[in-house]
Amino acid sequence: MSDIRPSFTTQRFLLRTALPVLAAVLAICIAVSVLVVWSSRETDKVAVSRQESLLALVVSQAQFLIAHDQESSTVWDDAVQHVKMPDNVDWLNNNLGAWMSTYFGHDGAYVLDTKDDPIFAFSDGKIAENSVYETLRPAVEPLAAKLRAMLRNPDPNGYGDRVLSPGASEVLTLGGRPAIVSVKPIVSDTGALEQTAEETYLHVAVRYLDESFKTDLERDYLFTGLRFSPQSNLETGEHGFPLQSSLGQTIGYYIWQPYRPGSTVISQIAPAFAGIVALMTGIMAALLVVLRFRSQKLHSSEERMNFLALHDSLTGLPNRVHFNDRLDAALSATKAAPLAVLYLDLDRFKHVNDTLGHPVGDELIRQFTARLKGVIEDKGFIARLGGDEFIVIVPKATRLLAIETLCENIITVVRHPFDIDGNHIFIGVSIGVAMAPADGTERTELVRKADIALYHAKTAGRGQFAVFGTEMDTMLQQRRTLERELREALSSDTQIQVHYQPLYSARNTKITGVEALLRWKHPLHGWIAPDVFIPIAEEAGMIEALGERVLRQACLDAMSWPIETVAVNVSAVELRNPAYAMKVAKILLSIGMDPTRLELEVTESALTDRAGHCEHNIKSLRALGITIALDDFGTGFSSLGRLQQLAVDRIKIDRCFVQGFGRSTNDEAIVRAIIDLAHAKGLRTTAEGVETTEQSEYLRGIGCDDLQGFLLARPAPGRDIERLLRTSGSLGAISTTG
Ligand code: C2E
Ligand code: CA
Ligand code: CA
Repeated sequence: MSDIRPSFTTQRFLLRTALPVLAAVLAICIAVSVLVVWSSRETDKVAVSRQESLLALVVSQAQFLIAHDQESSTVWDDAVQHVKMPDNVDWLNNNLGAWMSTYFGHDGAYVLDTKDDPIFAFSDGKIAENSVYETLRPAVEPLAAKLRAMLRNPDPNGYGDRVLSPGASEVLTLGGRPAIVSVKPIVSDTGALEQTAEETYLHVAVRYLDESFKTDLERDYLFTGLRFSPQSNLETGEHGFPLQSSLGQTIGYYIWQPYRPGSTVISQIAPAFAGIVALMTGIMAALLVVLRFRSQKLHSSEERMNFLALHDSLTGLPNRVHFNDRLDAALSATKAAPLAVLYLDLDRFKHVNDTLGHPVGDELIRQFTARLKGVIEDKGFIARLGGDEFIVIVPKATRLLAIETLCENIITVVRHPFDIDGNHIFIGVSIGVAMAPADGTERTELVRKADIALYHAKTAGRGQFAVFGTEMDTMLQQRRTLERELREALSSDTQIQVHYQPLYSARNTKITGVEALLRWKHPLHGWIAPDVFIPIAEEAGMIEALGERVLRQACLDAMSWPIETVAVNVSAVELRNPAYAMKVAKILLSIGMDPTRLELEVTESALTDRAGHCEHNIKSLRALGITIALDDFGTGFSSLGRLQQLAVDRIKIDRCFVQGFGRSTNDEAIVRAIIDLAHAKGLRTTAEGVETTEQSEYLRGIGCDDLQGFLLARPAPGRDIERLLRTSGSLGAISTTG
């Protein structure tokens, strides 16, 4: 099953970060461009309107200047006299015609008599026929009339230094060409020659506004591509300015390529601006790349943190938090979809950890994980809950058989020894199974039930699996109740009692000792066997208190009894406490009992603790003179060979062998071999569970040292044993509990 983790995609980065930033850059560029273009347009407008004003000024200036030029010859006594002389063309030409043309650049000059008829005409740079004037007459006549009116009613303060005489001028078209026509009176400069308005001759000057005028404009005022057109037919980039008469009549248009400083500036700065925009975009892009890189790094470390938060560092498997999420999701996604929860716990893992050390334990967990993955493959979701506890969610678990097969496969692969640092380690795994929806549709409930099933698998002998059944729940409840009640019993005086079972010498049937056996008199259920409550006491941490109580009581009772030894059972849990031997010594000292009279019965599992506490305790206890009996011999994983290495004084042959006599020939042979081997090592032997005389006879025959069993005596309360001991050796009937 793959993990569902949020992925940091390029698309997301582009959408959320790159796009807005680039859009902002673009918006700024557009805004700046618009502003620049707008301001350049405005600048251009101002520049064009200034050029228009300049043009208008130049034209009106020209109008004024022409009149001014005329005055150089028309306000002159000589002229007044000469115009009235006949056949005086040369003088007229020199002073009022060619002179005006060459000196001032006028295009035409005419002298009109008192009737406004021409007496002299100059046009196209030479003296012309007077009839040439006829083309001008319609335009000049209104001006002449206006002038004569002005002469008749002179403006008293109209003239000064610059304007010496009245005049009339107009901008108009002559033969299709724009022109300034100026009419001036030929008057006395000294005032000596008086004339009326009707006696005054007039001078007409013509200046065309195209051709040379236009060339001058172009040259002097920098008008590019200037042309004159009657219509405003503009070409690209051209600007037209209407040339108007004094009456506001449009004569035509000056058209030119106006000077546009804004556009010029734009065309000059455009490449630089484009460069800046490109640079900015580049920098932005570079920053974005850096940002992307950084955020990616941040994101991947965030992902790593998320991964660590959801995974176990030792195995890389999902952890409890992750498992919780996953199971919740699986249960809520499809309410009715069946799934199985497998709760796994390694058998004897604590033992490996304690004896071989944590690094080996860690490696074992890793190797186990690898094997588990190999079995589960993609069929389920594996999580490590901590320590040696694992959990597997198997989705779509419709067939119980398939789940059972899966469990068997797991158990099988774990059964093969693990090779770690040259150690061949045998461990097992127990599995508890709960199914949804049958056992529940809620995580905590399913896990609890899988745990209960696991507990059952463990108590059924480990290396097994158990599928949750409702009876397990009640059993667990009962167990919990029992645990609570045992705790209460421990603090009561009467519920916990010590009974004794005598041991007889096989040789002469005399009582050599007694074995102390715990009894719990439950206020409701009556006698409860130690096989039931001792494992509970061990698990619930009550065994040390219980053991101490038995030891103290047994020693106190046995002090005054005529027996060699009193035997007390010791749990492996007690022996693992490094202070156990010291505790025993203190008790003996407080009671004043000889340590050689105490025998402690230990099971083989207690002797294989690699941390060495048990071994050390046993060594210390033996050094005190206490003897050690190996209880239930043959039921553990002992081999006869191992007997050589065990530091004990007595072997108690398990009752299953004795009771197998007659049924299986092997058992007799085994018991005989055990006894021979024990004797060879100098150990005493006790046969447990002797129920028949045949058994007793056989055991005596093969040299067993002591016998214990219902045939000889059942466990009984101390006062009954005391009575029995007084009638020493006899097999008197006594009340029993065993
Ligand atoms: P164990 O140490 O093997 O004790 C002998 C058990 O065999 C006793 O069971 C006894 O009643 C039973 N027995 C004796 N003779 C016969 C017989 O002829 N036939 C049969 N079928 N059984 C016989 P009990 O008293 O129920 O004790 C069970 C186990 O509980 C003991 O087995 C021992 O392992 C444990 N135990 C008892 N008392 C203590 C104690 O004070 N401390 C610890 N740690 N364990 C105890
Ligand atoms: Ca025993
Ligand atoms: Ca035993």
